[in-house]
Amino acid sequence: MTYNIAVIKGDGIGPEIIDEGLKILKKIGEKYNIDFNFTEALAGGIAIDQTGECLPHKTLELCRKSDAVYLGAVGGPKWDNLKGEKRPEKALLKLRKELELFANIRPVIMFDELKDACPLKDEIVEGGLDIIIIRELTGGIYFGERSYSDDYAWDKMEYSRYEVERIAKKAFEVAEKRSKKVTSIDKSNVLDSSRLWRKTVKEVKENYNDVSLNHMYVDNGAMQLVVNPKQFDVILTGNMFGDILSDEGSIITGSLGMLPSASLGEGNFGMYEPIHGSAPDIAGQNCANPIATILSAAMMLKYSFGLIEEGDAVEIAVKKALKKGVRSPDIAKKGEKIYRTVEIGDIICEYI
Ligand code: NAD
Repeated sequence: MTYNIAVIKGDGIGPEIIDEGLKILKKIGEKYNIDFNFTEALAGGIAIDQTGECLPHKTLELCRKSDAVYLGAVGGPKWDNLKGEKRPEKALLKLRKELELFANIRPVIMFDELKDACPLKDEIVEGGLDIIIIRELTGGIYFGERSYSDDYAWDKMEYSRYEVERIAKKAFEVAEKRSKKVTSIDKSNVLDSSRLWRKTVKEVKENYNDVSLNHMYVDNGAMQLVVNPKQFDVILTGNMFGDILSDEGSIITGSLGMLPSASLGEGNFGMYEPIHGSAPDIAGQNCANPIATILSAAMMLKYSFGLIEEGDAVEIAVKKALKKGVRSPDIAKKGEKIYRTVEIGDIICEYI
């Protein structure tokens, strides 16, 4: 079986961390006899420099023809004075929209070995955390009509049954492969769009008898995430609530450099990237943490290619490396040995 992967390294630390991710995928290919075909394409600041556009047509076409997209990060101070459509970050929004990636999947994983980096009390996170936040990505208030004048402004929040159904199905499908529990977060005590959200999620649940469902208002959900995060398995929520809750989730795990993400559409196609940005402050120094990007590759193996054992092998290798004390500067405690980006990739490869 051959899997075609579009590779977008992007800007800043993007090329450094993607190189480590590619190393891992090649190792998995060798070990399990799988053929990965990598084709590089430009997006972000580097694409602006070389082609004048943040997302060249050629890149979009390559992504459309591929089985998955593997992306580093885009943006940086060099392009900060550009406006609107010209900004490097626009490439991401265009990719998500053009490729109809309506489901953003963000695992909130806290490894027991890194619990010192977590701002919550030990007893709250003892044993580690493993939550998945599934956020609707192409609807809701961020995509509604809007209007602005100096005295009055408004934004329209709307959801159709179809939009809620398709994201809810994704959440139940993901939950079926985990501990079979979905918590849907909305604001249905106030918002009509949330009332439709809750009703539709309940209806979709009828097709998933082995998965349990509970509902929470977003204000309570935000509180529960820091008071008792272990109660959650899969969190399903809309675009704006998901934006806020997933940032809250990411910070309780301690470091941006550890968290992967997937953006999925219908079927198996997906785009995989770390949740952090291009970290221009540390670019080119071989000190970026490549683990979020490596774990994004594990998500690709599982979600787009159905290679569960292979994805697990990557995650287990990462855990082993952390257990052995392999740390980049962002997750190292004072006095701990520091490992370089390339070394971390090599060690994880060895464990695979
Ligand atoms: P950032 O995530 O790039 O960096 C925030 C802080 O976290 C920095 O101190 C950085 O050094 C550190 N950091 C991030 N990733 C790290 C890693 N893997 N290892 C070690 N440390 C890491 O966010 P920012 O500074 O707000 O943004 C920088 C640029 O990235 C901006 O141009 C922004 O628009 C862009 N950005 C891109 C994406 C993306 O491509 N998906 C996401 C967010 C920001």
